[in-house]
Amino acid sequence: MKTGVFFHEEFKNKDWPVIGDKFRNFPEVLKDVLKLPNVLYFESKPVDEEILLNTHTHTYLQEVKRSWYYKGATLAVGGCVEAAKLISIGELKNALVFSVGAGHHSGPSSGWGGTYLSCSGPAVRYVRAITGQKRFAILDTDCHHGDGTRSVFEGDYDVLHVCFCSYNNVIENGTKIDIDVWGRTTDDEYLNKVRNEFIPRVETFKPFMILHNLGHDTAQGDYGDIGLTRDFYLKLVKEVKACADSICEGRYLIITHGGYRSDNAEYIFPRVVEILAS
Ligand SMILES: [Zn+2]
Ligand SMILES: [Zn+2]
Repeated sequence: MKTGVFFHEEFKNKDWPVIGDKFRNFPEVLKDVLKLPNVLYFESKPVDEEILLNTHTHTYLQEVKRSWYYKGATLAVGGCVEAAKLISIGELKNALVFSVGAGHHSGPSSGWGGTYLSCSGPAVRYVRAITGQKRFAILDTDCHHGDGTRSVFEGDYDVLHVCFCSYNNVIENGTKIDIDVWGRTTDDEYLNKVRNEFIPRVETFKPFMILHNLGHDTAQGDYGDIGLTRDFYLKLVKEVKACADSICEGRYLIITHGGYRSDNAEYIFPRVVEILAS
């Protein structure tokens, strides 16, 4: 089974809101891992507007279309939808999708904090439509609360959203959860919270696929620094991959989120591909 990597040249050499030009040396820094026999590289294609309308209002979409980052955002969402589709039909086992301008702060009619289109909304709803599979788990380990993702799936008890942020909540029949990791923490302390608060819930929930909003803004020296080292992200991905392997036949989709340090991005993401492909 293959690991997909979704990227587009549009994602580099631009000062993206919040994350800046952190992908400036991509996909070059992935050169070695892209040669691995079970890794496939995809150039992300823009998502169909019709698919965006499964999540966003027409009025909001017209508004986002006028912004300079719309093109990047549609490519990011296009990569997510395509990756989710290929995973759902068994052509990929898992995937890493690079994202700019799109992600967890975008709801049906809103977007802020560098993300102006939803990634998981269009992807989950598209896969539901083509496969009939209903249940999805979304893990959010960006530093900030995934308010957009939360509002996209509000009232949808077939989506388990476990968000590591600055809140402490268990709502909507236990399908929407916030775990407080605010302030200083350590790699082990955070990983233990993932083991205790995410993994058992996924085991009970039995999703068809796990989506992961993976921000590295939580890293030491980044804008959401809570004290994590860059190796934390590798341990986290290993843990979640093992969970996906045992719960949902390995169906695991990682979407890049916050963090502006390009040195960390260049360290983390090639190794994430290696882990996904192992
Ligand atoms: Zn963030
Ligand atoms: Zn949260």
